[in-house]
Amino acid sequence: MYETPKVAIITGAARGIGKSISRNLASKGFHVVVSDILEDLAQETAKELEKLGPRTLAVKTDVSKPEEAAELIKKTMDAFGSVDILVNNAGITRDNLSIRMSESEWDMVLNINLKGAFLCSQAASKEMMKKRWGRIVNISSVAGILGSAGQANYASSKAGLIALTKVMARELGSRNITVNAVAPGFIQTEMTDQLPDNVKETYLAQIPLKRPGTPEDIAEAVAFFASPAAQYITGTVLNVSGGLLI
Ligand code: NAP
Repeated sequence: MYETPKVAIITGAARGIGKSISRNLASKGFHVVVSDILEDLAQETAKELEKLGPRTLAVKTDVSKPEEAAELIKKTMDAFGSVDILVNNAGITRDNLSIRMSESEWDMVLNINLKGAFLCSQAASKEMMKKRWGRIVNISSVAGILGSAGQANYASSKAGLIALTKVMARELGSRNITVNAVAPGFIQTEMTDQLPDNVKETYLAQIPLKRPGTPEDIAEAVAFFASPAAQYITGTVLNVSGGLLI
């Protein structure tokens, strides 16, 4: 991978896809900062990953709060002296039909999924620019490309993340910082376990590979963007959906 270990921050990393991304990067020799709003679980995950070899740090962060996003970068700099890779993975759903969606359901999802990624990217890119090296990977969703009924807030946030990816790729390219997005399809996690059976069946029927994705499928795509193999790729969206989106 890299001669000296790079430092990767993953938001929403205590469980689900974020935890798999953290585990995958740790197993490939990255130092990993496990950032999550759930402090105890973040500590637990960081301890577990340390067994794989690299140094880890757990940081409690609500990504929607500017001061906490700034603190995440500061704590990483204090501990490792560098912020090399940022994975904006923290995300929530508050589904409802548009006609019934409350302002707070809209605001909460946009604040965490989109504004949170912006705040963390802004703070991290300041350090990356000084070093003239960085990798930002945003976890979007096929919902942000296809639209999905009942998810006006979520799909809009994920479409916004794709625009943010392209804007920041243009703005930061001259400093050797790449910005890419991964758009997962239907991935088996606690988030999707909560869906009603008929919704799950409808998704599965539309997936050419005939199975839900695993968090590890997403982690491998993120690891690719973080790797030297992807050094000339920026501003792209990689669809990891078993063909749900073709
Ligand atoms: P998850 O299991 O719910 O994990 C998300 C993590 O982010 C949780 O630990 C959550 O904590 C944390 N989080 C929530 N709000 C936060 C905040 N304000 N600041 C920091 N962390 C916060 O979800 P997942 O299924 O792994 O999803 C990970 C990402 O993939 C999300 O961005 C999601 O939109 C995206 N995605 C998932 C799927 C899928 O099929 N699962 C498909 C497409 C895209 P709490 O438990 O306290 O909320």
